[in-house]
Amino acid sequence: MDFKKTIRDIPDFPKKGILFKDITTLLKDKKALKASVDVLARQFGKKGIKYVVGIESRGFIFGTALAYKLGVGFIPVRKKGKLPSKVRSVTYALEYGTDTLEIHEDALKKGDKILIIDDLLATGGTVGAVAKLVRASGAKIVGVGFIIELAFLNGREKLKGLPVYSVIQY
Ligand code: AMP
Repeated sequence: MDFKKTIRDIPDFPKKGILFKDITTLLKDKKALKASVDVLARQFGKKGIKYVVGIESRGFIFGTALAYKLGVGFIPVRKKGKLPSKVRSVTYALEYGTDTLEIHEDALKKGDKILIIDDLLATGGTVGAVAKLVRASGAKIVGVGFIIELAFLNGREKLKGLPVYSVIQY
């Protein structure tokens, strides 16, 4: 499957200088949607995963589909203030300023094997922060999966020691 054909480049979105990888065109394509989730399921299917942890918001789309396919539960990591019960938070640096992500404090237990899913790995800041959140609960990260990896940004450097897999690389 040539996934790259189904991904659209949008120059200067959300701001000047960013070449945005638009996955709405992949999602719309029934073969590409199914195949992309199937590739992730093949990669991570035999790791004894208990939960998929998906990152708001495009990580929810692929993460939930993958959890369904693997027959496991799904746990959302959301932006600050969105989760209704008690949360654990992590604040991390962006190009300008900071951002905060949250997970329910009781979502994970010590030793739970989890897989983190997001749509795209750029600098690795987002997933690095989520890995901290997950580790604080004592859960074990057995994989980190993406649809797209912008390899030239070296995001993997921030995820050293974690099994990282991406379906497509640029
Ligand atoms: P980073 O923390 O730098 O790895 O950025 C990852 C997050 O930002 C992911 O949730 C992506 O959805 C989003 N992102 C970063 N760069 C791009 C891009 N060029 N195209 C689409 N999404 C991006």
